[in-house]
Amino acid sequence: MPYDAPLSQITHTLSRIARLDELAATGAFPSFDPELVAPILEEANKLARDVLAPLNPIGHKSGAKLTDTGVVAAPGLSDAYRKFVEGGWMGLAFPERFGGQGLPKPLALAVFEMIHGANMAFGLCPLLSFGAIEAILAHGTDEQKETYLPRLISGEWTGAMNLTEPQAGSDVGALTTKAVPNGDGSYAITGQKIFITWGDHDMTPNIIQLVLARLPDAPAGSKGISLFVVPKFFVNADGSLGERNTFRCIGLEHKMGIHASPTCVMEYTHAKGWLVGEPNKGLAAMFTMMNSARLNVGLEGVAIGEAALQAAVAYAKERRQGSIPGEKGSVPIIRHPDVQRMLLTMAAHVQAARAICYACGAAADLAEHHPSEAIRRSAKAREDLLTPLAKGWSTDRAIDVTNLGVQIHGGMGFMGETAAAQYYLDARITPIYEGTNGIQAIDLASRKLATDGGAAMKAMIAEIRDNARELAGVNEPGFLHLSQSLDQAADALDAATDYMLAEMRTNRDKGLAAATAYLRLAGDVVGGHFLARSAYQAREAADSEAALILASYFAGDTLARAQGAVRALSEGAETVSAAAGALWFAG
Ligand SMILES: Cc1cc2nc3c(=O)[nH]c(=O)nc-3n(C[C@H](O)[C@H](O)[C@H](O)COP(=O)(O)OP(=O)(O)OC[C@H]3O[C@@H](n4cnc5c(N)ncnc54)[C@H](O)[C@@H]3O)c2cc1C
Repeated sequence: MPYDAPLSQITHTLSRIARLDELAATGAFPSFDPELVAPILEEANKLARDVLAPLNPIGHKSGAKLTDTGVVAAPGLSDAYRKFVEGGWMGLAFPERFGGQGLPKPLALAVFEMIHGANMAFGLCPLLSFGAIEAILAHGTDEQKETYLPRLISGEWTGAMNLTEPQAGSDVGALTTKAVPNGDGSYAITGQKIFITWGDHDMTPNIIQLVLARLPDAPAGSKGISLFVVPKFFVNADGSLGERNTFRCIGLEHKMGIHASPTCVMEYTHAKGWLVGEPNKGLAAMFTMMNSARLNVGLEGVAIGEAALQAAVAYAKERRQGSIPGEKGSVPIIRHPDVQRMLLTMAAHVQAARAICYACGAAADLAEHHPSEAIRRSAKAREDLLTPLAKGWSTDRAIDVTNLGVQIHGGMGFMGETAAAQYYLDARITPIYEGTNGIQAIDLASRKLATDGGAAMKAMIAEIRDNARELAGVNEPGFLHLSQSLDQAADALDAATDYMLAEMRTNRDKGLAAATAYLRLAGDVVGGHFLARSAYQAREAADSEAALILASYFAGDTLARAQGAVRALSEGAETVSAAAGALWFAG
């Protein structure tokens, strides 16, 4: 399964969409040197291409194993993880005072895109550590920060997130795991968690669990959950490891993909943990973990889509079938227009998703670090708006893209041993975990739109219109058409936004029935905007032709459907709403 990072697209997206120069100008990243971007990306690609990608099919075949002493990682992964730690990759965007490198978030996203593209099952381990680090950074005590952060940020230890229970999936507030005060400031945690990614393994000497549980007097539902830090091995005052805690992995799930990522059933029996943040305020801490994880899962969608595209291009160049007029003998299938259509669809959607994810990471950095409070506030609104798009749109597209990857391989794509099949199977989880994409759509329609009366979305639409205006002024073939497509798509998104705002106010069920279609439309239009922006900025650059082809193809194939999508969204919601009491399969 060869993987070679698309360094040119990644670099351009960092400079044109994530605007690394603007992030550097905030003064918040004193260690960031633009000259280092290329060497960092090249080094990360060596890890991805040479170390992680060759282990991907091996992990798919053998998976992780549960033994009497705990979970054993798939062959080669412990060694790969050691190289990952030695490279300092975990700490790229974390604060220097805890051993991180203090670099902009989009740069870390670029590196982790490569890691996920080469081996998504492996990438999940640091992805979960990210969530744990961000929760402790935002809500932990000074002592918790000193105890856990340096070794999580170095990668010496890993973190895991324990939210889900059999009866508490999307409805996290239904969890029943208990936390009883021990009287010494610690808590005894008892309960069962399911589906815990990298909940146990043998790659590091310690694993730091972040566990949601309920205090004895907690209010019912999500207002009564609290967050605890629960280490596998206790940490002595001198930093050495002490006794083992009383939780363990009692089972591994058998899954359709990501076999090398152990998905653990975790049993906690009076395990000792410490409260992170305020009692009963675990939901806020959970959202800190989830927001980080949502963007990173969106990034997984980009990464696996890119890997599927690379496999499809390689196969389409090699496989010969059919002929074309004027040429003797069979031709590589890449010569057929329908195959070119599929490849272009894959490439355009991957690039649009990459832009959305990197833009979301840049907004997060501006929201945290910009000296102007007004810019911090508007960047936060942009980050909040883009997060459900990054997660929901990018991962839904990953399913489409990996599906096309299988299609391009023909019958071979259906054979278990091809990379295309593994990418499709691995990608399938991404719209499900970290809040299903249905939950992302509800988040967009209710929290993100309704709470600010659509202001953040309207600001986005205004920016898209400005972009269209600028494109119209370019006196080069293709740009006027791009501008018109984008302008019409902005009108469609505006109309759909008004529809959603009205329905969420007056007929919430109708709004919720339209939410997934709205998220799709929003992702299409924002993605098309970023592609067009890149084409505009690439005019004098070596990739000008490729950038314009991607933007024009996306405009013709996807933005052209935006007007119809508004009608489909409202008519679909009307029907669901009117038929809700009479659905023949609902009885
Ligand atoms: C491989 C894997 C790894 C995972 N890793 C972790 C992990 O590390 N830590 C962790 O805590 N959890 C983890 N999870 C759990 C994951 O986050 C949940 O599976 C996910 O949140 C969905 O919950 P559920 O499976 O119970 O589905 P359900 O909540 O039962 O949802 C089923 C369907 O109903 C829909 N639905 C549910 N509620 C609503 C609603 N209110 N409105 C509209 N539609 C709704 C959903 O969108 C979905 O389509 C993992 C899961 C898997 C499969």
